[in-house]
Amino acid sequence: MSVIEPGQTVGILGGGQLGRMMAMAAARLGIKCFIYAPKGDNPATQVCDGYIEADYDDVSALEEFASKVDVITFEFENIPAKTAEVLAAKKLLYPQWRALALTQDRLVEKDFINTVGAPTAPYHNVESLADLKTAVEKIGLPAVLKTRRFGYDGKGQATIKSDADIEDAWAAMNDQPSILEGFIDFDLETSVVIARSATGEARAWPMSQNIHRNHILDETIIPAPITDETQVAARDIASRLVSELEYVGVLAVELFVKADGSLIVNEIAPRVHNSGHWTLDGAVTSQFEQHIRAVCSLPLGDTSPVGPRVIMKNLIGFDADQWHEILNDPTAHLHLYGKTSTREGRKMGHVTWVKHD
Ligand code: AMP
Repeated sequence: MSVIEPGQTVGILGGGQLGRMMAMAAARLGIKCFIYAPKGDNPATQVCDGYIEADYDDVSALEEFASKVDVITFEFENIPAKTAEVLAAKKLLYPQWRALALTQDRLVEKDFINTVGAPTAPYHNVESLADLKTAVEKIGLPAVLKTRRFGYDGKGQATIKSDADIEDAWAAMNDQPSILEGFIDFDLETSVVIARSATGEARAWPMSQNIHRNHILDETIIPAPITDETQVAARDIASRLVSELEYVGVLAVELFVKADGSLIVNEIAPRVHNSGHWTLDGAVTSQFEQHIRAVCSLPLGDTSPVGPRVIMKNLIGFDADQWHEILNDPTAHLHLYGKTSTREGRKMGHVTWVKHD
């Protein structure tokens, strides 16, 4: 275990808002950040100590990056295996490659979740139209077909309600290996955001209710309207997942809560997560600071909320144009990500309110 001290440098793969908020949290602790991201709109580069813009397969740029930092982390999970291999040979990479590899493939991820005894929707591997027909017979309808890799915010997904939808759903996958999941009739969506340190200490924040609009997270509400029993069960699942992986860093577990309070794990994200953004203003220690603490082998901070209720609202696309109105509310904590162009569906910022009534 090597402790990274103030004055040393964390390398972050990815230049988006998650990397940006990590770099800002590190700066508060006197720790520098160096970003590696492919060329493009990389708002994290506005707030870091230095950056390299190069492709993920540029071995000499990766080696130069590794030589400038003391530990390496990432803000998104689709890092190519070869990139991780080149970097891990030079510097400590946290969270470890195993967690990344697992979560890059929905089938491998679901198998793993089940090995720790956590429930998932029923699922079946699909690599052809014939496989899909077999999967539908086994799982029943309605069901959701998802590509195994590179899906996020509902992209690469098709709902199958009747046999008539089967061919179109398979066509929408573009021949990519996919997974058919039984449709879960849930009451609400929630997540556990948890951090684990290299010494094995794990701390979770209170769970949020996550409300989606057009498959994108719209709002998180703390506390989630669920019983203590459900909360304990969900935290137990999250603890088992991070300890089984010997995970270091922040990880999010997205869950569905059914009407009877039972839980189904939807997916895990081996990184800071949008449903944890509320912690920047609403918790003693934010998920970004905690992630930096964990990957630097520093002690973890308190995850308690600072008020009885916290609401986080994403500013998606042109929502962010309301920044002036939002600033007129003195209780609103506005976060804008510094992206240079606004697009429909693009995460441009968020606002948090800590409610004391
Ligand atoms: P995902 O990309 O897997 O997080 O899915 C995006 C959203 O689709 C989730 O947040 C759910 O609202 C919905 N969804 C995904 N999988 C299922 C499922 N098996 N049953 C019901 N809804 C689902």
